[in-house]
Amino acid sequence: GSVVLENVTKAYGEGVCAVDDVSFRVDGAQLLVLLGPSGCGKSTTLRMIAGLDSVDSGRILIDGREVHDVEPKDRDIAMVFQNYALYPHMSVAENMAFGLKLRRRPRKEIARRVQEAATMLGLEALLDRRPGALSGGQRQRVALGRALVRQPRVFLLDEPLSNLDAGLRASMRMEIARLHRAVRATMVYVTHDQVEAMTLGQRIVVMDGGRVQQDDTPMRIYERP
Ligand code: ADP
Ligand code: ADP
Repeated sequence: GSVVLENVTKAYGEGVCAVDDVSFRVDGAQLLVLLGPSGCGKSTTLRMIAGLDSVDSGRILIDGREVHDVEPKDRDIAMVFQNYALYPHMSVAENMAFGLKLRRRPRKEIARRVQEAATMLGLEALLDRRPGALSGGQRQRVALGRALVRQPRVFLLDEPLSNLDAGLRASMRMEIARLHRAVRATMVYVTHDQVEAMTLGQRIVVMDGGRVQQDDTPMRIYERP
């Protein structure tokens, strides 16, 4: 997959420029981290890549096509949210299957993909539970599973570990690194956590005040005196 932003700008109302002339690109099996303090425009950037927010100016291309030229259900992206955004009345299996049902995939294929994702994430024993009966870490695994079953070329992750406690965050970080190696998809990963950025990012785009401050490898960003 590939994600290209060209001079993307977005303001909320008068004067509040959330994202200011942002350009970067990421492709292949690379994991790019968008890093910066709260309010610097990371989520807005990610939501525009997902097509959930419109851009005021500039362009966003996914696999060479402008986001808004592609029907939402045909966009080859899956997003993982900080608050998991699971459907409370559906079981874990139904939550994971939902996106594929919407896209009218054959029933056997859906069952197979849900099974595979559940195995990868250690969710086999929880498939019949509702999200309300899961821990935070388990819910985040289901959210990851729901993205994985889609097998998209582009994954967007918005602070996926921020609601977990420190111990769980460390183990989920390793889990996400492992998943990334397994699926070899393009990932854009939003966080305000430098440790996450360092350990997960192959490239880090540092944002502040809606602008890109740096765009480099973790090594070069953190070795700078
Ligand atoms: P981050 O993800 O880095 O915390 P956001 O992209 O959420 O930053 O926010 C960037 C700026 O835009 C902030 O000043 C925030 O308050 C503002 N903002 C975000 N969403 C909205 C919205 N729906 N309406 C108005 N202002 C918003
Ligand atoms: P995040 O942790 O992703 O930055 P926030 O708590 O800042 O989340 O925002 C939650 C929701 O509220 C988001 O959908 C965001 O777009 C919206 N939002 C953020 N800041 C503002 C704002 N100043 N005015 C209106 N909506 C906002």
